[in-house]
Amino acid sequence: MIGGKGGRSAQKGEAAGGKNMAVSQASTEGQASAEGQASAEGQASAEGWAGTAEREVVEICRDLIRIDTTNTGDTETSTGERAAAEYVAAKLAEVGLKPLIRESAPGRTSVVVRYPGQAAPMGQPARGALLIHAHLDVVPANADEWSVHPFSGEIRDGYLWGRGAVDMKDFDAMVLALVRQWRRQGRVPPRDLVLVFTADEEAGGEYGSQFLANNHPGDFEGCTEGIGEVGGFSYTVSPDLRLYLIETAEKGLDWLRLHAKGRPGHGSMIHDDNAVTALAEAVARLGRHRFPVVVTDTARAFLDAVSDALGVEFDADNPEEAVAKLGMIAPIIGSTIRNTANPTRLAAGYKENVIPSRASATIDGRTLPGQADAFVTQLREVIGPDIEIEFVQRQPALETSFDGALVEAMAGALRAEDPGARAVPYMLSGGTDAKAFARLGIRCFGFSPLRLPPDLNFTALFHGIDERVPVEGLQFGVRVLDRFLSRC
Ligand SMILES: [Zn+2]
Repeated sequence: MIGGKGGRSAQKGEAAGGKNMAVSQASTEGQASAEGQASAEGQASAEGWAGTAEREVVEICRDLIRIDTTNTGDTETSTGERAAAEYVAAKLAEVGLKPLIRESAPGRTSVVVRYPGQAAPMGQPARGALLIHAHLDVVPANADEWSVHPFSGEIRDGYLWGRGAVDMKDFDAMVLALVRQWRRQGRVPPRDLVLVFTADEEAGGEYGSQFLANNHPGDFEGCTEGIGEVGGFSYTVSPDLRLYLIETAEKGLDWLRLHAKGRPGHGSMIHDDNAVTALAEAVARLGRHRFPVVVTDTARAFLDAVSDALGVEFDADNPEEAVAKLGMIAPIIGSTIRNTANPTRLAAGYKENVIPSRASATIDGRTLPGQADAFVTQLREVIGPDIEIEFVQRQPALETSFDGALVEAMAGALRAEDPGARAVPYMLSGGTDAKAFARLGIRCFGFSPLRLPPDLNFTALFHGIDERVPVEGLQFGVRVLDRFLSRC
């Protein structure tokens, strides 16, 4: 296996990088076959390249964490991704790739690069490219709440700590480290790889993935399938069985504002048409409402796999019972069997004794595949006829099937690195850049492999305090990615 122990004692990867650029652009012969890889490995070990990705992944991830790319959701107050994008572009250029810098607004920078793959054999059509997408921005972190400074990239207790450690500078680093190693080894992927490191994922991608899909679709020409975040992580069932959740679906997003109107008036008087009261009643009903359970194909496949793994019967009429047994991942899975609508902001009034004519609330709505219209109908029933609904942002849900060669390559790569691995499909309750790339006709999966310790509450680390990633998990991810990309 490339990236094995052999290289740990080897010379510094950086030195090899620039020097071997010419080699990396040379012959592609034999790279697809097992023999080709074996010989590449032998050569790599002899020259001290193997293992560099596993070492470099930690350095790169730490470097990226130290570059503050806080995205507040507002470009005025966001740090921007420019510095991180320049770092990434330099790492790619160093191994002879030709990164493109794409800037949607000052400082809001993404990087796209194509890693040319093998040509199709004579007489066969060219294979579509594989998109690998990862975002560079992070959500804000309040240093006072953390055990270490969120942008220090400290390594402690076997973890690399910092904002972005799991969301998702870990995968940025895995992809960069592995691609750099492959280039140094002169390896050519089975098909074109298009790597994109995006700005603004955490605010819906307007300045990143959506901008790229709208303005630079040519960068993704020929891409048929893609992998990105929030999939491929382990959920330990027993010492010999870990489920690796591959994202095959993600919920749609409906950010909306509810407006109540009323008669303005003096706060000291009897007043029966108060916009604040009307809004508050609607919001309270909605906040407590549970939308009906709908078990999609993905949720059913996941629940079947989980009940099989846990050895419990899953009652199709009562999927919540099965979800309740999932422990740490219950919150992420529980919201994938129904639409949800959480009130997140309220706004009304400007003075203590003035009854305002309007009041508004922001709702974070998330819809199951095929449920976008039903959601609005259900929402209307809960809030009543008098509240106005304004759509702030609507993005459709995604769902693909869990089959085909790419899925087999994921499952096989996981099993090869973890004999206790079982790949299962699941639906993400949130959204990712996949939504923008799916618009280009790309079949998207969440696959950024990580083996996690059984007791780590992984989903709580996303946007959480003390976000951190196991160093061994990063290295595991590089090895899985290496195997996966070898046969993608
Ligand atoms: Zn993310």
